[in-house]
Amino acid sequence: MRRARSRRVQPVPEFDAALVAARPLTPYVRELTFERVDGEIVTFDAGQWVNIVIPSDQTDLKRSYSIASAPNDSSRFALAVTHVNGGPGSTFLHQLQEGEKVRVQGPQGLFTRRHLKFPGPTLFVATGTGLTPLRSMLLDELHKRETRPLWVLLGARTEADLLYRDELESLAGQHRNVQFIPTLSQANSAWHGHRGYVQVHVSKLWTELSQDARPHAFICGLQRMVSAVRDLLRKEMNVPREQVHSERYD
Ligand SMILES: Cc1cc2nc3c(=O)[nH]c(=O)nc-3n(C[C@H](O)[C@H](O)[C@H](O)COP(=O)(O)OP(=O)(O)OC[C@H]3O[C@@H](n4cnc5c(N)ncnc54)[C@H](O)[C@@H]3O)c2cc1C
Repeated sequence: MRRARSRRVQPVPEFDAALVAARPLTPYVRELTFERVDGEIVTFDAGQWVNIVIPSDQTDLKRSYSIASAPNDSSRFALAVTHVNGGPGSTFLHQLQEGEKVRVQGPQGLFTRRHLKFPGPTLFVATGTGLTPLRSMLLDELHKRETRPLWVLLGARTEADLLYRDELESLAGQHRNVQFIPTLSQANSAWHGHRGYVQVHVSKLWTELSQDARPHAFICGLQRMVSAVRDLLRKEMNVPREQVHSERYD
């Protein structure tokens, strides 16, 4: 008689981390760099997230944050957090002082490039801090000397809301395969770049990227944008499921 195979669920790692550096990326987004207190390496795949335990009077809350830095075999990792008005998690993280510690669960999550069925060019699509796991993937791919196209379509309301803009512009200048395409939904008249929501630009960029190979789309942000871009690619443009990867924050 065949015995049923027992499936062991790996426990999610937990550790304490201290805030070692923080800086504003935009008026509403704060980047926080943490370091494991025990000095162990934080091992993760680009695209994964951690839970931060938010102290509270009643039961502690947990909020998830994608890792914004690339895997680097160190005990440090960075998050980028949007301040949500009245939100306990993001308010706590915006007020956290250097040296203070948090409880971290993870890293975990399947929104990574580990199981891609085939290599290909990539269109990263994000709004706001949806960029964080995509930035980790982009930096990781460049560390690995990826030469296929890596295009970043980033939506924000105004120029001031474009996070990691200088870095992305600089990467696009240094690497022929990187393109940075910011688009603003509330641009002023001085803006000469793309306008409108990210959805408006996806099909043209996808068509360009599809000239020589089958691209992958990695989409991250709030549900409304993620669903709109997924539906556009999957239902209107008939892009197969294995090419469209997404993560929602709400
Ligand atoms: C897998 C995963 C990864 C995530 N990664 C990030 C990240 O890297 N950076 C980040 O800022 N948030 C991220 N989030 C969202 C985060 O977990 C919290 O939901 C967010 O910080 C709000 O928590 P809060 O306690 O402050 O507010 P709550 O009172 O819990 O308010 C929740 C409301 O905030 C809105 N909201 C959630 N996230 C955002 C956001 N990023 N921008 C604007 N509005 C938002 C939602 O619409 C929701 O209705 C992620 C969520 C998931 C599930």
